[in-house]
Amino acid sequence: MHILVTNDDGVLAPGLLALAQAMREIADKVTVLAPDRNWSASGHVKTLHRPLRVIEVELEDGSFAWATDGAPSDCVALAQLGFISEKIDLVVSGINPNANIGHDVTYSGTVTAAMEAAIGGIPGVAVSLDKPDNLSGPVDFSGAKRAAQRVVQWLSQQNGLPAEVILSVNVPYRPAEKFKGYMITRQGLRIYRDELVRRVDPAGRPYYWIGGQVPTAIDEPGTDYGALSAGYVSVTPIQLDLTSSRTRDWLEERQFITSLDL
Ligand code: MN
Repeated sequence: MHILVTNDDGVLAPGLLALAQAMREIADKVTVLAPDRNWSASGHVKTLHRPLRVIEVELEDGSFAWATDGAPSDCVALAQLGFISEKIDLVVSGINPNANIGHDVTYSGTVTAAMEAAIGGIPGVAVSLDKPDNLSGPVDFSGAKRAAQRVVQWLSQQNGLPAEVILSVNVPYRPAEKFKGYMITRQGLRIYRDELVRRVDPAGRPYYWIGGQVPTAIDEPGTDYGALSAGYVSVTPIQLDLTSSRTRDWLEERQFITSLDL
């Protein structure tokens, strides 16, 4: 099994090294191709209007990686479109040091890198760690490494994933022995506490910054956040087909089409 490892925090992020090391223990081959800077909360990007550069980088453990000035999803596209000549069997993205739950998945470069893999017909897994907000010092990725290994090992025994689906794995911040278990979940509801900060630059012009407190979430059983708060590794299958079946019914019940004049 040949695994492509990428992330959205940049090629030098400790979570990428942790994931690359975890995957090397279980895969035949691991290729690392990641952005050269932090693309967190960049969403699903396709860079079409400027060239992409790729450089060679040495990670902290002396291992080899590729870095590009493109987005996380560009990394996956580059690899799939032939920059990496050897066939890729699986894309694993992370380890993001913060959970990607609820509506986060639409912002997350970690998750959208896995989505890009699914668009190219390759199974994709996003791995995020629910690090405490007030944590100081280095992040302990050991539990998340173990969870990533277990999910990828299970996947390697399957014939891939259903089409247009990725797995978003969120890991509670604790050693693997302290996991309550693994739970299949649905997206929960994030509560964003964004606030617009207005300031004035040295030239007297106003500028705006999206600030506020870190988001919380609704603790509901069966959801990604519910699993994390109960100590489980959350595994959410996410589909790229965003069609709302419920709303198709809602529109039809209200005679949407017949009430529109041509
Ligand atoms: Mn990130």
